[in-house]
Amino acid sequence: MAGEPQADCLFCKIAAGEIPATIVRETDTTVAFRDIDPKAPTHVLVIPRAHYPDAASLAAGDPEASAAVLREAGEVAAQERVAGSGYRIVFNTGAGAGQTVFHAHAHVLGGRDLHRLV
Ligand code: C5P
Repeated sequence: MAGEPQADCLFCKIAAGEIPATIVRETDTTVAFRDIDPKAPTHVLVIPRAHYPDAASLAAGDPEASAAVLREAGEVAAQERVAGSGYRIVFNTGAGAGQTVFHAHAHVLGGRDLHRLV
């Protein structure tokens, strides 16, 4: 069923506490944790607990969780004190765009000059 945990999904396992991660925020519907390979001083991933392969399928299948991910991305930025200087929320969607984990996630990037796209 849509949204159900997938046995072979890394981020479902992080959400379930089966794989360790440095969690910075949690809600009933989302988990935010530090990226293990950070591309900026602040690099946090926000995931829905529900399993959807990418942001578009999350938005279509569970609009409330989709909104919660965006809301939490803003909360992470505030908590990490990067909201004032500006930050980026990125949803890589599809292998061709660099998506490597097929459980929807927002990258929250901040703490450095982000004028350039990559
Ligand atoms: O958008 P993309 O799918 O490439 O992002 C996946 C992200 O998950 C990568 O930035 C990678 O460093 C991160 N990751 C992680 N913890 C893991 C495995 C991957 O933070 N255990």
